[in-house]
Amino acid sequence: MAETQLIIGGEWTPAVRRGQYEVRNPARPDEVVGQAANGDEEDVERAVQAAHTAFPGWAALSFQQRAEILTKAARHLTADDEELQTRIRLFTREHGKILKESTLEMTRLGDRFLSSASFAERLATDAQLPGPPFDTLITHQPRGVAALIIPWNWPLSILGGKLPQALMAGNTVVIKPASQSPLAPSLTIRRIAEIFPPGVINLVTGSSSRIGDPLISHPLVRKINFTGGTETGRHIMRVASKTLKHLTLELGGNDAAIVLQDAQLDPPALQRMVMGAFLTTGQVCMALKRLYVHRSRFDELLEGVTAVASQSVVGDGLDPQVTMGPLNNEAQLQVVREMAEQARQKGARVHEVGSVPDQDLFEKGYFHRPTIITGAGHDSKVVSEEQFGPLMPILSFNDEEEAIRMANDTEFGLCSSVWTSDRDRALRVARQLEAGYTYLNAHGPMLQDNRAPFGGFKQSGLGRNLGYEGILDFLEPHSISSVPGWLL
Ligand code: NAP
Ligand code: MG
Repeated sequence: MAETQLIIGGEWTPAVRRGQYEVRNPARPDEVVGQAANGDEEDVERAVQAAHTAFPGWAALSFQQRAEILTKAARHLTADDEELQTRIRLFTREHGKILKESTLEMTRLGDRFLSSASFAERLATDAQLPGPPFDTLITHQPRGVAALIIPWNWPLSILGGKLPQALMAGNTVVIKPASQSPLAPSLTIRRIAEIFPPGVINLVTGSSSRIGDPLISHPLVRKINFTGGTETGRHIMRVASKTLKHLTLELGGNDAAIVLQDAQLDPPALQRMVMGAFLTTGQVCMALKRLYVHRSRFDELLEGVTAVASQSVVGDGLDPQVTMGPLNNEAQLQVVREMAEQARQKGARVHEVGSVPDQDLFEKGYFHRPTIITGAGHDSKVVSEEQFGPLMPILSFNDEEEAIRMANDTEFGLCSSVWTSDRDRALRVARQLEAGYTYLNAHGPMLQDNRAPFGGFKQSGLGRNLGYEGILDFLEPHSISSVPGWLL
C-alpha cells in the first residue's frame, strides 16, 4: 500500500497534526489504494517558510545553471524503470485513467522540464533599448515563493505547465495537489525534488478546506498559479487581492469544434474527434465539449463518430484492453448522470455506446459509457455548461458566421477546433474564435505542443502556462535605465 508524506525543506516528512487520509480506487471504490499526508495550516506555514528561505540561493543561479538542474531532473524522473512502472500503476489505481494515459503524463512531465530548460539562452538575453531618451535594459527577476495548485484530472501534465517554468524563472515553490489522486503525484514530485537544493520544491497534500486559504493568503507567497474550476478561481482572486499576488488561473472550458462543409471525415479524423471528446473519460479542461457541424454533413458525422466511439471498452484502467476508465469520483459521476438525464427529459436523444466487459465492476465503480447527444438545444445544460465527463452533444449550423457565433457564445474560452480541408478558411475561422488554443482538424491534450503558450480567454482564466510565455509569467520585468551612451 502506497504511503506519501509532505516535502518540506528537502525532507519527506509527515503532516504535523493530522496524520494521513485514505485514497480509494474509483474503479473499485471498496479498495483503498494508499494513504496520503493530511496537511493543515501549520504544514503550509512550514512549507512557505522553507520556500522563502531557499529563494535567495535559487534565484542567484543563472538561467543556464538552473536549466542544467532541470535537465537532470527530467532524466531522473524516468531513470529507474521499475520504480516508474510502479508509480504509473499506482496512478491508474488512484485516478481511474488508463495505463497508457498515466504513462503519457509521466513522460510528458519530463518533456516539459526539457522544454523549459531550452529557453535558457533567450531568458538570459536582456533586451536593449538605446536612447534617446535613455539607454534601457529590460531584465527579468523571479517573483519569490510561488504556490502551484493542481487539479486531479491531469495532475502531472498540468504540473508540467507550472513547475519547470516557475523553477526556470528562479522561484521556489509550494505545490498543492488535489485531494483526490495525491499519491503518484507526491511520489513523482519527491523524485524531482531530490535533484534540487532543499526548500526549492515543497509539497503539501490534504484538503483545500484546511490548507487552501492559508496558502493563497500567505503574505510570503508572491505568485499563485492555479488550475481548476472557475468558482475556485474567483475565490482565489478575492483572497489573493488582499496582498495583490500575481495570478495565473487556468479554469474551466467548454470547447467547441466547428466541422465545416468541406471537412474531411475519414477514419483518422473521426478518431481524433472522438479522442478529443472522450479522453480521460471526458475529464479534460480542453476536451471537445460541443460539436457543431454543417447541416449538410450532420448524418455522416453522427454515424462516423458513433461508429468510432462504439469501439470504446469501458472498465478498469489497469486492464490493457480497456480504452476508457471510470470517472475520478462519485460527485463527478453524479454531475454527468444528471446532465444526461436532463437532456433526455428535454427531448434530446441520449445514446450510450461502447462495450463493458465486466458488468459487475461497471455497476460498483464510477463508470459512465461514452454518450452522444443529439437534439439538445444550444442553451441546454449539456451544451451551455462544462460537462467534465463522457458526454458529446452534436448540433448543426447553417453557415460559417452562425458557427462562429455559437462557438463564442459562452463565458469560457479555453480551446476550440476547426475542421475543414481549406487551410485559408481554417485560419480565417480560427482567428475569430475567442479561445487560447485552436486546433485545425484535431482537438485535445494529446496533441498539445509543449512550446506553445496555453491558457484561456474570458472566464477560462488569466495568464498563460507553458512555452516561453509560461516562464515569463513567473518573472517580474525590471527596466534598468541610464543616460545615453553610458549603459549600452
Ligand atoms: P477545483 O475544485 O477548483 O480544485 C482544483 C485545486 O484547487 C485542487 O487542488 C483543490 O484542492 C484546490 N483548491 C480548492 N479550493 C481552494 C482554495 N480555497 N485555496 C487553494 N486551493 C484550493 O477543481 P477540480 O474539481 O479539481 O477540477 C475540475 C475543474 O478544473 C474543471 O472545471 C476543469 O475544467 C478545470 N481544469 C482546468 C484546466 C485548465 O488548464 N484550464 C485543466 C484541468 C482542469 P482540493 O482537491 O483539496 O479541494
Ligand atoms: Mg474539487
